[in-house]
Amino acid sequence: GKYQSVGLVVGVTGIVGNSLAEILPLSDTPGGPWKVYGVSRRPLCSWSPTPVPAFEHIQCDISNPDDALAKLSPLTDITHVFYVSWSAHPTEAENREANSAMLRNVLAAVLPNAPNLQHICLQTGRKHYVGSFEALFKVEFPEPPFTEEMPRLNCPNFYYDLEDILFDELSKRDGAVSWSVHRPTTIFGFSPYSLMNIVGALCAYAAICKHEGSLLRWPGSRMTWEGFIDPFAKNEAFNCSNGDVFKWKQLWRILAEQFGVDFVGYEGEENRVKLEEMMKGKEGVWDEIVAKYELAPTKLNDVAQWWFVDAILGVEIEHLDCMNKSKEHGFLGFRNTITSFHSWIDKMKAYKIVP
Ligand code: NDP
Repeated sequence: GKYQSVGLVVGVTGIVGNSLAEILPLSDTPGGPWKVYGVSRRPLCSWSPTPVPAFEHIQCDISNPDDALAKLSPLTDITHVFYVSWSAHPTEAENREANSAMLRNVLAAVLPNAPNLQHICLQTGRKHYVGSFEALFKVEFPEPPFTEEMPRLNCPNFYYDLEDILFDELSKRDGAVSWSVHRPTTIFGFSPYSLMNIVGALCAYAAICKHEGSLLRWPGSRMTWEGFIDPFAKNEAFNCSNGDVFKWKQLWRILAEQFGVDFVGYEGEENRVKLEEMMKGKEGVWDEIVAKYELAPTKLNDVAQWWFVDAILGVEIEHLDCMNKSKEHGFLGFRNTITSFHSWIDKMKAYKIVP
């Protein structure tokens, strides 16, 4: 055929899916030329990657086995699956059940019907090493830097279920289909539909501070303000961590400058603030900002996840990971974290998500 590779991006409007859908169809992307199918539950928006020429959008609810089978089984030319989706639930038990079902439904529709399937990429994350949100840093975990072969924690985690489902299904195919699991830490990227988008949420916070004339206060711990952190850069079809380190105090200054607000840093334990509290009830303020600056129509709940920022910036323990294995396997791409932070904020402005 015309295409060497045909990718199915499951979660195409998410923080990683969005970039995959933009990058895979480019002529210089490794493994190409790529044809791309992209799945999401909701329709595409003004900010979505443009579905021409090589990106076909499929609106499908993968939590529904019938819908998944009906919409995905006809895609018989798929060679690669990029599973970059998840759904969030109040307890890890519910996360396990819902997310297992989603992956199972996709595999049940694709595996028997795509004879050219070669590879499945599964994206999980660093919680593999430090515990599910429910158990985060509470369960005993190994000394960082984390390496890929470290044993699993003695604690339920939907990431482990996803791996097991994938291994189990592929073992029935005699090694014809290979797999990889990608474990990023906090992701810098662009998606007003992501369940966890730290740059997006911080932009919304800064825009609200500007609008209300308030200070950009630091909602985190001393450790995340002063300690070394390593973020994750996407923008490559096969992901890897940046490998550089930064301090949040560097990024906080950039955020304040980008939005023209004054900022304060870590103010001591007794003055710790949480975004979830400071930003409570700001939905109407967001609607005002959207109207005033004629932004793309969004709801504050879609753009900003305060709980997530509080969780990431509130961490008290350093938890770097080790990039040696990725590098040894040739994943040498990286982004400069400072430049990347700037460029994702610029993209938020260019797509009129924030003023
Ligand atoms: P996002 O929340 O950014 O995006 C999820 C995507 O999946 C959206 O396109 C969403 O579309 C789609 N989706 C969700 N439910 C369904 C459904 N039932 N049917 C069809 N599509 C659906 O995902 P991430 O990229 O953040 O998450 C992927 C993995 O990466 C997760 O395991 C996450 O824990 C992990 N991770 C994420 C990090 C981050 O900073 N974001 C950091 C480290 C790991 P729609 O909205 O229309 O349903």
